[in-house]
Amino acid sequence: MRGLMMDRPLLIGALIQYAAEYHGDTEIVTRTTEGPIYRYTYAEAERRARQLAKAMKRLGVGLGDRVATLAWNNHRHFEIYFAVSGIGAVCHTVNPRLFADQLRYIVNHAEDKVLLLDLTFVPIAEKMAGEWPGVRHYVIMTDREHMPQTSLPGALCYEEIVAGETPDLVWPEFDENTASSLCYTSGTTGNPKGALYTHRSTLLHSFAICSANAVGVSMRDAILPVVPMFHVNAWGIPYAAAMSGAKLVFPGPKLDGASLHELFTAEKVTLSLGVPTVWLGLLQYLEQTGKRLDGVKRVTVGGSAAPRAMIAAFEEKYGVQCIHGWGMTEMSPVGTLALPKLKHLERSTDELLAIKSKQGLPLFGVDMKVVGADGAARPHDGASTGELLVRGPWIVSGYFNDDQATAAAFDEEGWFRTGDVSAIDGDGYMIIVDRSKDVIKSGGEWISSIDVENAAMGHPDIAEAAVIGLPHPKWDERPLLIVVPKPGCQPSKDSITAFLGDKIARWQLPDDVVIVPELPHGATGKVLKTQLREQFKDYRLPTA
Ligand code: AMP
Repeated sequence: MRGLMMDRPLLIGALIQYAAEYHGDTEIVTRTTEGPIYRYTYAEAERRARQLAKAMKRLGVGLGDRVATLAWNNHRHFEIYFAVSGIGAVCHTVNPRLFADQLRYIVNHAEDKVLLLDLTFVPIAEKMAGEWPGVRHYVIMTDREHMPQTSLPGALCYEEIVAGETPDLVWPEFDENTASSLCYTSGTTGNPKGALYTHRSTLLHSFAICSANAVGVSMRDAILPVVPMFHVNAWGIPYAAAMSGAKLVFPGPKLDGASLHELFTAEKVTLSLGVPTVWLGLLQYLEQTGKRLDGVKRVTVGGSAAPRAMIAAFEEKYGVQCIHGWGMTEMSPVGTLALPKLKHLERSTDELLAIKSKQGLPLFGVDMKVVGADGAARPHDGASTGELLVRGPWIVSGYFNDDQATAAAFDEEGWFRTGDVSAIDGDGYMIIVDRSKDVIKSGGEWISSIDVENAAMGHPDIAEAAVIGLPHPKWDERPLLIVVPKPGCQPSKDSITAFLGDKIARWQLPDDVVIVPELPHGATGKVLKTQLREQFKDYRLPTA
């Protein structure tokens, strides 16, 4: 027997409409790319989103069309999120830190029709435009006064196209499983892969992260997402904030400790979210200046493991609750959060710190299993490790237009392979111990070991190359390149680095190069990275 409850679709347009109706005077504050602070309200943001939605339609954007952004966290980016998804088009947030080959691939693979970009990224787009034949319109996210001289074909001014429309649009209704946004992950090898979110997955994820067992977002919060809106939708915060009517504070391009602290104080921020590298910068700034974090109630750390000392510094020194979380682009992204249970609260500070340093308990909606090499589930004893697989309504069921990547990413029961090696303890908390994917995460962004190795292998004096990630106090991990020279050759570190200079992005260059007579190989001839990591575990990078 079917129940008798209304089958109303969960839609992103309804989210912003709710925020405008019930939290219409709640503020959204931005440090703009142009410089000054800009403030307005949910009511104004929603009205402008409707105008922008009409402008998008006028540019030919329809249901399912992809609209790309190259933008910082700011109020215009926020409007684009809702305007584009709200009319059933797909908001494709492009990571501006990717290098040219990846940018070319992503925009063409997504078949983006329109690209909206911040002033900062005009030079990147100008370089790439000739290689993006499908992009019909470029919209620069600024006003007439700040419009640059540009070679971008037919560049439009954001404020002009918004002002050119009346706000008489009603957010349309459609199937909640319609695609809403798209984010590529360039984590593992091969081409970047697209996670295509739906309206339903986005709203379910928002409900989940607003809950008190997660980040507990509410209308009493002022939230500053440091995590970029081009990286998994700023961990879903723009949607969760609209759902709960929280004040939003967007930092724009300035993410250093001093700039963040200034906004925290001026805008009475209660919650902020970012990767460890960002928090390290803030903590160093506090240390140097003796400033405090008055008013900030909690910070969320994710994207890489939160060091125990960082959690301790926030909680013990500054009285700020530190919530450590784990997730992935493919998971919208939140999977687990390391909050203690009631029974843990009596424990010593040290024991509590150990719990908070784990990757955490899954939210309801995320199923996890850890399997051994034989495919059998590992016991939840905190020590038995294996590959972590997940499933749930905000986890990808495949990659966008990529059968090959999709085929490799799921087991026969349809669980998604995370590429993380982990254990689950008796209380259900997950701990990441290693990664089976061959990548390095530096400051929250991926470096593909294989891309660097392939580039190095092009050097005329190099026979074989391997790249591993080594711990780094600021960036979490940095690449170390280990090379075997061709017989009779003696390549220098400088010549190798210079050779790589125009082949990979600057920030992806290895921090050091070590020359060895041979690399360890497995039975199938593959370099044994686990063995290399063990061999170099005490190696200190010169930058560390
Ligand atoms: P991304 O898709 O770029 O968000 O990266 C997801 C990956 O980042 C995960 O599969 C992990 O390898 C890593 N990661 C994310 N959060 C954490 C964490 N809290 N601790 C350790 N690794 C993490």
